[in-house]
Parts: sequence; C-alpha cells; structure tokens
Amino acid sequence: MTPRIVGLETEYALMALPHGPAAPAMAPAEAITELFRGTATQHRSHNRFLPNGGRLYVDIGSHPEYATAECSNARDAALQDRAGELMLQKMLEAANERLDSHRLHLLKTNTDSGDATFGCHENYQVKRETLDPLDPGFVAFLVARTVLSAGGGLDKSGAYVLSPRAFHIHRVQSADPTRLRPMISTRDEPHADPAAFARLQVTFGDSTMSDRATEIRLRLTSTVLDLIEGGVSLCDLALADPIASLHDCSRHGPAAILALRSGGAVSAIDLLDTVVGRCEAAGIDSLLDIRDMIDRIQGGEQDTLSPSVDWICKKLLLTEAADRYGSSDPRIPRLNLAFHDLDPRRGLADRLRASGAMSALPLEDVERAVSTPPSDTRAALRGRFIAEATRLERAYSVSWTHIRLDSPPHPQIDLLNASQCSDSRVADLIDVMATTPAPPMSRLARLRAGIGPLHHAGEEPPANRP
Ligand code: ATP
Ligand code: MG
Ligand code: MG
Repeated sequence: MTPRIVGLETEYALMALPHGPAAPAMAPAEAITELFRGTATQHRSHNRFLPNGGRLYVDIGSHPEYATAECSNARDAALQDRAGELMLQKMLEAANERLDSHRLHLLKTNTDSGDATFGCHENYQVKRETLDPLDPGFVAFLVARTVLSAGGGLDKSGAYVLSPRAFHIHRVQSADPTRLRPMISTRDEPHADPAAFARLQVTFGDSTMSDRATEIRLRLTSTVLDLIEGGVSLCDLALADPIASLHDCSRHGPAAILALRSGGAVSAIDLLDTVVGRCEAAGIDSLLDIRDMIDRIQGGEQDTLSPSVDWICKKLLLTEAADRYGSSDPRIPRLNLAFHDLDPRRGLADRLRASGAMSALPLEDVERAVSTPPSDTRAALRGRFIAEATRLERAYSVSWTHIRLDSPPHPQIDLLNASQCSDSRVADLIDVMATTPAPPMSRLARLRAGIGPLHHAGEEPPANRP
C-alpha cells in the first residue's frame, strides 16, 4: 500500500511591541514587511515555494503561514513543520536585530489575547469516496483526540481549557474555512489526480510545540483513515452534537461526557480507547505508544505525559506559576503566550525542549529539513528543481502540482502523483538547465524572480483566497 500523503499548514501570530511609550504603534502590514525584509520572499508578494518543498507565505490579516511539503509519514511532517518554525525564528531574530523602535514577536499559537485565531490545517490524501460521505464516527474521533492533541490555554474568562480555539469552531464541515471556521474544510482542491483522490483538510486542530504531539496527532488520524478506508465503520460512534461535544471536551478534558447519536453517552477518553481498540483489532500495530498514553490517562497518571502532550505540559506550568504568584497575577497570561513565542529570549519552548521537559526532534534533523525536502514524495522533485533553478538563477514557475522552467521557456511538467519522487522529465530538465546557458536576467527580472539573500528563485504565487 502506498503511504498516505500528509501535509501540515501552520499560521503564526505576529505582534510588534514598541520599546517605549513614545514609539508609535506599528501596523500589521509594516510588521510583516519588517519580518520578510532581506529575504527573497519580499519581492514576490511574500509568497514562495522553498527548496525543502514547502511553501512560506503571508496569509490574510498579515500573518505568516508555513505549509510543509507533502510527507509520506507523520514524523517527516512534524520535522518539516519544525523546519518552518526554525526558518521563521531566524527571520524574527534578523528583524529584531535591525529594528530599534519595536520588538517583533511570532507566536505559534491558535488564539491571541484578543479575538484573533490562527489556523493549523492538517491535510490527508484520501480516496475520493472516503469523503462521500465521511464516516460520522471519524468526526467523533476528531473530537475525542483533543485529549491528546490540544495545545492548551486560557479562555476569555481566564479559565484553563484544552483548546481555546475550539470555542471559535461552529460547524462540522464547510467549504469556507476562513469565515465559518469548520472542523473540516470541504473545499475540493486535491492537489492530486481529482478522479482518484481528495484532500481531507482538518482545519480545527491546534498547533503544538512538542514535536511528538504533532507527530502523534498526524499518525493517529492517518491510521484511523486507514481503518475507515480498509472498510471498518465507526458510524456507531457518531456524536449527537459534535460541536457541543468539542466544546465540552475542551472544557472538561478526558472525562468529558459525549452524547452519542444512538442515544448512549461515553467519555472522551473511552471513545478514543474504542477507536484505537478497533485499529488494534484490525491488525494495525503502530499505535502501541498511543495505547500507553490512553492507559495512563485512564489510570490517573496523565501528568506523566507532559513532554508529549502540549495541554498537559502547559497546564502544569501555569498551575505552578499560579501556586507561586497567585492565580490573578499578570505573569500567568504572559506565560500562557510565552509558551508559543518563537523569540529565543522570551519563548519557553526552546528551553523546555533543551531540558527534556518537552519532546523534540533532533535539532540537526530540523536544521537539515530547512533546506532538504522529504525524499519519498513529489516534494523531492520540486525541491531539487527549485534548488537548481535558484543556483543557476533561472526564472521558473512552481505549484503543488507542476514545475516549469521559464528561462529559457520550457513546457510545463505536471506532477499529479504526490507519492512520486523520481521522474525522467524532471531529471532531463535539470540536466538541460545545467548545460544550457541562461539568457541574462535584468536586475528587475532578478528582483521579480526573488533572487535575493535567501537565494530562492521565483514562482507563480498560487492565488490567496479572500
Ligand atoms: P490555502 O492557501 O487556502 O491554505 P491550500 O489549502 O491549498 O490553500 P497550502 O497552504 O498551499 O494550502 O498548503 C497545502 C498543503 O497540502 C501543504 O501542506 C501540502 O503539503 C499539502 N498537500 C499537497 N498535496 C497534497 C495531497 N495530494 N494530499 C494531501 N495533502 C497535500
Ligand atoms: Mg494554507
Ligand atoms: Mg489550506
């Protein structure tokens, strides 16, 4: 069986804090320009595919989004996501060295201290018929997985909840993820052969700082899709009101009682237990560690999962701070945000990772993934093409499903198979690039192509939707 293709999109909150009361406020558009200044991306509508096969762009509302390359497994996706975090952290540090009136902050969070929310979208390649219709028990699973995969944080009243963003989610499915904020986006853009595949876009999840939390969320969800595509039904687990259950789960955690459509009720952790049990019964044996996590939660040992579950890690930190300073101390909401802050001076994640209090992928693997695409998906072809075209200063166009050399002009190569990692047409094109002299590019063309300090050549920005 070909491994399922997975990709993760992470939006980051960007804030500019003035150094003193005399400094004027910095508009969001100005802050994003400062963040991208000096990178090739600044010349191309802040929108760029990268040599690691991913995509870095500015989303509506002037905040950066990093979309990982297509990955064949959850570890690679978590690694590519962390590579995006590292890339943005470097851009942040460079911007803060240049700025003296303000300090920029980038937060890998899903809510800020106001009403803004930031998405973390999981993408799973599925068979077209899997979405037509989607097993309602899969939605119940998504609700219940909150107990392992939520990011944790304070809601508007200051109460600790598993997922503050859950309270901004009001629909199960919608084709308009920006305005209606559904759990699942049904916008039909497979980035693959549309006759065979669809892209399941899970749009309600939380970004997680623990790499293991990210990996577990993607691996578990992908495995449950394997189960469903293998013919096992979860229909009997359908929830009476998935959105109300999502909110209950976020407020009450693993013990939240979820009403079933069939009339019964089950706790969130027991529902998750049932789903994982069905995977085990079907012979899927890759969930041993997740079985152990469920057992520990059921056995009252949930705090031992702190390094691998963001909401537990953060809850322990905030509880400790509340015990020390009092629960209404202003340091508590600051700590709540510092958990997600990429600034090495202010953020907690790097320190928690370094001390082992938060599970992390090896830093050398993350550093390599900044410039290296996954080797076993179409991203390997895209990444190699971009790296070569950039090195040779050629204009080109790239999307998730095509590459095209524009200097000198060549026919477009469509790449509809996301699992394909070698292609003679791409190999030939790279050979041609190496042996054919490029027409000289004017300074303007070089700027337009984005050949700048980050050494990325250009591509046609895929249109950002309003
Ligand atoms: P938007 O700009 O509205 O977010 P989009 O959903 O197409 O549009 P991108 O930000 O471009 O999002 O990210 C697309 C994500 O889909 C990436 O993480 C990518 O790895 C992933 N992806 C690409 N091809 C496939 C595929 N065939 N199946 C599943 N995921 C895919
Ligand atoms: Mg996106
Ligand atoms: Mg998307």
